[in-house]
Amino acid sequence: YYQPVNKDEILQGRHDHFGGNLSLTYDDPVMLVRGWKHHMFDEWGRPYLDAYNNVPHVGHAHPRIQAVAADQLKRMNSNTRYLHPAQTAFADKIMSKLPDQFEVCFFVNSGTEANELALRLARAHTGAKGMVTPDHGYHGNTNAAVAISAYKFNKPGGIGQADWVELVEVADDYRGSFKRVDPDRAQKYADLVDPAIATLQEKGHGVAGFIAETFPSVGGQIIPPKGYLAAVYEKIHAAGGVCIADEVQTGLGRLGDHYFGFEHQGALPDIVVMGKPIGNGHPLGVLVTTKAIAESFDNGIEFFSTFGGSTLSCRIGKEVLDIVDDEGLQDNAREMGNILISGLKELETEFGCVGDVRGMGLFLGLELINTDGSEGTGICKYVKNRMRDHRILIGSEGPKDNILKIRPPLTIEQEDVEMILVTLRAILGEVGDFSPAAPVPDHHHHHAGCGCC
Ligand code: PMP
Repeated sequence: YYQPVNKDEILQGRHDHFGGNLSLTYDDPVMLVRGWKHHMFDEWGRPYLDAYNNVPHVGHAHPRIQAVAADQLKRMNSNTRYLHPAQTAFADKIMSKLPDQFEVCFFVNSGTEANELALRLARAHTGAKGMVTPDHGYHGNTNAAVAISAYKFNKPGGIGQADWVELVEVADDYRGSFKRVDPDRAQKYADLVDPAIATLQEKGHGVAGFIAETFPSVGGQIIPPKGYLAAVYEKIHAAGGVCIADEVQTGLGRLGDHYFGFEHQGALPDIVVMGKPIGNGHPLGVLVTTKAIAESFDNGIEFFSTFGGSTLSCRIGKEVLDIVDDEGLQDNAREMGNILISGLKELETEFGCVGDVRGMGLFLGLELINTDGSEGTGICKYVKNRMRDHRILIGSEGPKDNILKIRPPLTIEQEDVEMILVTLRAILGEVGDFSPAAPVPDHHHHHAGCGCC
């Protein structure tokens, strides 16, 4: 890896052998060959601050993950048809973080698979087919997961909305129908579920359930008003449905104050889905549910996943959760998140193009706007690419792609957080150079010769 790799050759290889919709981040793509904690290193060994990737939850290349994976691969790696203490140890660890009603675990290989399974469980338990879900949600890349992911099916060229799916407006109290000044907004957003339930019942689908990212992420790093999910779950339960909390992005301590997002909402789901960070990069998805729902699914047909719950996966998953505890990473998420939020709020008062700062712990969003208040898609693209020039990796989200997404590994430290804020201030200052209302120039043209690219 110390031999410089020709980036253009790799890029050409991608074009030759992969689909065009396998996207690359940044105008000038980054090639990364090493990682350590919340840093990554390119083909020249140059460091980048990883302020975006939530998968390396406990940090890139964690020595304890390396050790446990190597140890297990030396022994053997097999499936759930044989007894092994790693499976029950992992399940016990997960259950220790959840309310008592959760007693049964299913291990699969991705967030998508866990959501697919959640849909099967909800349908098996209720005998109904219909699903209610907020607009702009994302739950995975398979047929049924796409069907409940408005972010995918509603795009031009998407498969469109299935007859058994009803969408409700996402509880975005910055841009949506009910704003933060309205003290009853949580209930008003929740009430939108009533007509969705009625429609599914009229169509004869019944209500199998409701699925939502607890805090919608691809929808724009949205924190629903407190009590929203509790009110929705009450309505879904009254209609006989099952409530599914997709905690793929929000779970496992990232929020700082809460181990899971549903705790913030005062809500108790029937199924919790975990993914991405739980394997720290090893493919792993987990679904937990109640005994009653698991029994409805246990109808005599075997449930089996060749790799789901493998010995290796269980050992890695448990190690990740242990590291979060042993290294105090949930507390670190809260502390670093608080510094970031107060710094970002200062930027909000300084720069007109910062419309909103929201988030919790290390799940943060910065909504960029044009002078007329509309979504600052061009500004967001500019800022994201300029941050990359400064070797700080962050992302963008939202239906109009105008929300900067800061979501680093939980190991991030105060100096890194300060670097993000100082750099962001400088780049937002550049945005001020050209009127944000005017089309934003291509960032490389604007900064040709600036020396930092
Ligand atoms: N749910 C949410 C909220 C996600 O963000 C993602 C992945 N971005 C998924 C599900 C799907 O997970 P995977 O890509 O592991 O299948």
